[in-house]
Amino acid sequence: YYNNDTLIYLNGSFVKAAEAKMDFYSQSLHYGYSVFEGIRSYKTASGQTRIFKAEEHYNRLKASAEALNMPYTYSTDELIEVTYALLDKNNFQDAYIRPVIYAPANMSFNLNTESFIVIEAWQMAPFLGDKLLRVMTSSFQRPNPKGFKIHAKAGGHYVNSILASQEVKALGFDEALLTDMHGCVAEAPGANVFFEKDGKLVTPALGNILPGITRATVLVLCDELNIPVEEKQFTKEEMYGADAAFFCGTAAEVIGLHSLDDVDFTMDWDNTVSKLIQSAYKNLVVEKRQELVNEISGIE
Ligand code: PMP
Repeated sequence: YYNNDTLIYLNGSFVKAAEAKMDFYSQSLHYGYSVFEGIRSYKTASGQTRIFKAEEHYNRLKASAEALNMPYTYSTDELIEVTYALLDKNNFQDAYIRPVIYAPANMSFNLNTESFIVIEAWQMAPFLGDKLLRVMTSSFQRPNPKGFKIHAKAGGHYVNSILASQEVKALGFDEALLTDMHGCVAEAPGANVFFEKDGKLVTPALGNILPGITRATVLVLCDELNIPVEEKQFTKEEMYGADAAFFCGTAAEVIGLHSLDDVDFTMDWDNTVSKLIQSAYKNLVVEKRQELVNEISGIE
């Protein structure tokens, strides 16, 4: 993630990652009481560096902090500016960016009067790779919204993600799919999910999942490309043997699934509307809008 020269942004200054310090008595370390974002920047078609959906991500960071009653004194504009400076100082264009809001030393469960921020960036390929994934439904369910503020991107929620991912990888699968407390399909440990049937896409409705920024982007792309899409609750059995499926998230981008619980998705990925969405997303993040339009009309 870093070498001796890598800089991070820490509470107002740029410091070397290798020399940065934090308090081991932080409430965040002991209890998972932190919030964070996962953001990507891209070298766009014009050669400029652009942070994709920067405002949406920093607005969600603020909303996550507020949901967890963490003091949050930053503006979205200020943090976007700092993030561009961080990329520039590290000479990054295509990067993954991790802002974290964390708590001071506090071994109680009481509120804090201050919070801290760190922003790290590193170069990272799509985190689930670029091959169709063999996915297994985890025995772990997503956190119950009656026990957690699950719309917040809180550090502690990711213990659930780690358990699910480790469970299925130990059995030889590439990634997990988790259900919600009703047994309906929810999301992957770090991505949202869609499946495709007869040219239509279906994705879990909001409520028991993280409202993904990539998910929202996919919904807009569906609208632009006239791909019908439905947000609803469904079971894994409804997904079995569908034409295609994909995970989507900032880190994973749009990645197709090969199978769920060893039941293959039936269409050739290259002929699916899911693949169209994948291409459209790839083009959008680097601002190749016109190429997208040409590509789609070329297909029709
Ligand atoms: N669900 C979970 C549990 C996640 O961690 C992520 C990644 N932030 C997503 C969905 C996708 O969200 P986004 O598209 O905003 O990255």
